Amino acid sequence: MATTITITGAGGQIGYALLFRIAAGDMLGPDEKVRLRLLEIPQGLDAAAGAALELQDGAFSLLEHVEVTDDPTVGFDGANLALLVGARPRGPGMERGDLLAANAGIFGPQGAAIAEHAASDVRVTVVGNPANTNALIAASAADGVPAERFTALTRLDENRARAQLALTLERPIDSIRRVPIWGNHSATQFPDISHATVDGVPVAEAIHEKVGDVRAWQEQQFIPRVAKRGAEIIAVRGSSSVASAANAAIEHVRDWVRGTEEWTSAGVVSHGEYGVPEGLISSFPVRSVDGAWQIVDGLEIDDWARARINASVTELAEERETVRGLGML
Ligand code: NDP
Repeated sequence: MATTITITGAGGQIGYALLFRIAAGDMLGPDEKVRLRLLEIPQGLDAAAGAALELQDGAFSLLEHVEVTDDPTVGFDGANLALLVGARPRGPGMERGDLLAANAGIFGPQGAAIAEHAASDVRVTVVGNPANTNALIAASAADGVPAERFTALTRLDENRARAQLALTLERPIDSIRRVPIWGNHSATQFPDISHATVDGVPVAEAIHEKVGDVRAWQEQQFIPRVAKRGAEIIAVRGSSSVASAANAAIEHVRDWVRGTEEWTSAGVVSHGEYGVPEGLISSFPVRSVDGAWQIVDGLEIDDWARARINASVTELAEERETVRGLGML
């Protein structure tokens, strides 16, 4: 049986970078057939239809079918996996509340359509920003679907953090492990090196040997570099990060479906773990076991890290209050 995958905003840049890798088997492996449902708003339909023509021309042996639609009831029909990429970008003069409201108007109906039309095992990954709160809105609207099936992408932040550590320590990327992202996929996120290792040695020790004051390096270089990497890419490339975001989305879904041995990061619903208010979709260190994310428990968090986590979680709680205040939750 093929896996049915819905991609919203499929006519956009990240969508374009995702589709061909999914069809080539990068997400679900070389033996898993896929059926793609490309969901767009009317203005995006031509771009999605063009991508569908190119998918045909890719002659991918794993690709069974492609559907292009602007109707969520068709778009989510039978979906086993959904990647919610399309979102309303912040326009000129738009306040944060306006952005949250515009996206609530997209992600609420999508959550409801998922509940009604997707397969009973549906798993949802939100990429479109503000990703954590968009995932919360979709989950709240999806009556009968467990909130654990709705996640927000923070894997790109983790990949950026691991890459910076590998560059600083001049070590291969695979030698760097356990670098979770906590909180919101925003500038307040906390990339945490306190449990990280490089070839089994604590990263903090290796960084100390390189730079001396680890805390100052974290505060002045590492955390801002990771949190503001999106802006750095825009400044250098002249447009936002696309292929790295698509790559992270593919890794997130692949690990969710196929499992992980090591920790990674994902925005998942809190049940109160590490003091994060219940119901928020916050990034945590996670493992994927039997097709479900599990938050890594029992980690020691020092006061400095606790303050960073709290700041990001407070932002998430404020976003939830804003959306509630608008009557959209
Ligand atoms: P992109 O494909 O570049 O980005 C899509 C979303 O992903 C944006 O919300 C963007 O956030 C987010 N994103 C998350 N992580 C990253 C990252 N690291 N780097 C860049 N973006 C990231 O946008 P396009 O404008 O090219 O495409 C969006 C498509 O979505 C359009 O085709 C549009 O028609 C469609 N759309 C569909 C909707 C629907 O299906 N209902 C609703 C709204 C739009 P940020 O804006 O913060 O960069």
